[in-house]
Amino acid sequence: MIKIKIVVCIKQVPATTEIKIDPETNTLIREGIENIINPFDSYAIEEAVRIKERLGDPDTEVIAITMGPHQAMEILREAISVGVDRAILLSDRAFAGADTWATATTLAGAINKIGDCSLVILGRQTLDGDTGQVGPELAQKMGIPFVGYVSSVLEINKNNMKVKRLMEDRYETFEVSLPSAISVIKDINVPRVPSLRGKMKAKSAEIPVWDSEILGLNKNEVGLSGSYTQVVKIFTPQIKHKTTMIDGTLDEKVEHLYRILKESHLV
Ligand SMILES: Cc1cc2nc3c(=O)[nH]c(=O)nc-3n(C[C@H](O)[C@H](O)[C@H](O)COP(=O)(O)OP(=O)(O)OC[C@H]3O[C@@H](n4cnc5c(N)ncnc54)[C@H](O)[C@@H]3O)c2cc1C
Repeated sequence: MIKIKIVVCIKQVPATTEIKIDPETNTLIREGIENIINPFDSYAIEEAVRIKERLGDPDTEVIAITMGPHQAMEILREAISVGVDRAILLSDRAFAGADTWATATTLAGAINKIGDCSLVILGRQTLDGDTGQVGPELAQKMGIPFVGYVSSVLEINKNNMKVKRLMEDRYETFEVSLPSAISVIKDINVPRVPSLRGKMKAKSAEIPVWDSEILGLNKNEVGLSGSYTQVVKIFTPQIKHKTTMIDGTLDEKVEHLYRILKESHLV
């Protein structure tokens, strides 16, 4: 019997959109900021667990992976508490400073090591890095199809799946063969809250830590050494717009506004 393995890629991110950058190192200042599962990744976890329930095959396995420091173990336990079967932490000093390409290399290495994976589910993008590049890069590295912005998994069996994805002005439906990778948006489901049983399971779960050696990856392919891009500078753009409040009657406001536009050569 073919065992279906679904891998969910999740990332720990600061619980804020107001990221502070260290001007010296150009890396994120993480001190004093609570960490959470990247919100889109909660939908990815939920969808993986729902697919397992839908297939109704007890042999289906959902595995969560994250590349990060040891504290990222917390989000793997959270994933187990809501139905993920097992989790693996990818952690190594050599993974530090990875850009999206090197991140994808590490994740792909882990998925290959897990072996015979039918489906990889990712979030659409992260709160911190925010590039949305890891999913397509990962699929490219693994040589499997990728569908982004998935809002619904319409059908799935051991060989194929049909998904609906959201574009700016329309929905598109794709049929893809498995193995495939998808990234999901928040319309796809409502993540469940952990049960007491789930929390107990998560607390006692053994979570292995895989480093570059276990993954069989060369240190030059991962982390800063495996990154084609490097952050040279990160800064918040200075907003130089001046706001002018226009008072008066409607006619006066219109006349005033017209004058400003004319003086600015906009009419
Ligand atoms: C040019 C550049 C240089 C960078 N340099 C550095 C640096 O020097 N130091 C540094 O700390 N960071 C650096 N980063 C940030 C780092 O590359 C990203 O945190 C990481 O590659 C993930 O990219 P992202 O957050 O944009 O993920 P996205 O592509 O937005 O994430 C999409 C999905 O991929 C999955 N995913 C993403 N990251 C992980 C992960 N780690 N584990 C498991 N799943 C994951 C999740 O499902 C997520 O929802 C750099 C980023 C860029 C663009």
